[in-house]
Amino acid sequence: PPPTIFVITPTYARLVQKAELTRLSQTFLHVPQLHWIVVEDSPHKTPLVSDLLMKSGLTYTHLHMPTAKDRKLQEGDPSWLKPRGVEQRNEGLRWLREDRRAQPGSDNQQGVVYFADDDNTYSLQIFEEMRNTQRVSVWPVGLVGGMKYERPVVEGGKVVRFHTGWRPSRPFPMDMAGFAVSLKLVLNNPEACFDGEAPMGFLESSFLQGLVTMDELEPKADNCTKVLVWHTRTEKPKMKREEALQAQGLGSDPAVEV
Ligand code: UDP
Ligand code: MN
Repeated sequence: PPPTIFVITPTYARLVQKAELTRLSQTFLHVPQLHWIVVEDSPHKTPLVSDLLMKSGLTYTHLHMPTAKDRKLQEGDPSWLKPRGVEQRNEGLRWLREDRRAQPGSDNQQGVVYFADDDNTYSLQIFEEMRNTQRVSVWPVGLVGGMKYERPVVEGGKVVRFHTGWRPSRPFPMDMAGFAVSLKLVLNNPEACFDGEAPMGFLESSFLQGLVTMDELEPKADNCTKVLVWHTRTEKPKMKREEALQAQGLGSDPAVEV
């Protein structure tokens, strides 16, 4: 069988959550050998996510890990103030390391790990690009960092620098959606994780720094010339009418799951 892609997705309760997870799960249904690790930012697993996963038809693991209160972005905070999904991605890594240790056999180290936020847009092609990652593979990400795209710049088959709008001197100035790591590398570096205290923009670097050097990066997507994943963001729906009706006792039925 082809190497399994372990996709780690942090997710949190909000009005658009079911829509995001529906879109994502239906993309993943088209990807062979994919194991979805969904980590809820919550003190418990919610029925909405449990039910969606159960009915999804996917191979999945459902976990939860609440973000510590002082690390959580508060209403009104600018979105760049604190990194999001950190404890959840680390919990996904913890589970994966433990689970693989428990799996007997020689192919329990075959595979690749990808961090897929619930609101991005993924082409099916990106999963085939990453599937045979030896250490760390990289590719462009569209609509990110105030740019049309960010990407590693490839010369002679090697990544030599990064096309990014901001602090190109960071060790790995890449978005989360722009790389995948081989399972073997994750297992052989049991301490590697995301550092929630890392300065702004250094979250990806905090994980990759101990794992790989720039010249070891494996460029995918036609030497990083194709955009196959987009850092899309979903607008927060306005609830003005809902609130007005609610005040008159005519709000939408809370028993209807949205
Ligand atoms: N997320 C989370 N808890 C939060 C906020 C976000 O688990 O309090 C998840 C979210 O569902 C997504 C990832 O973390 O999968 C990145 O968050 P977001 O898409 O809001 O970040 P941005 O796109 O603004 O960098
Ligand atoms: Mn996002």
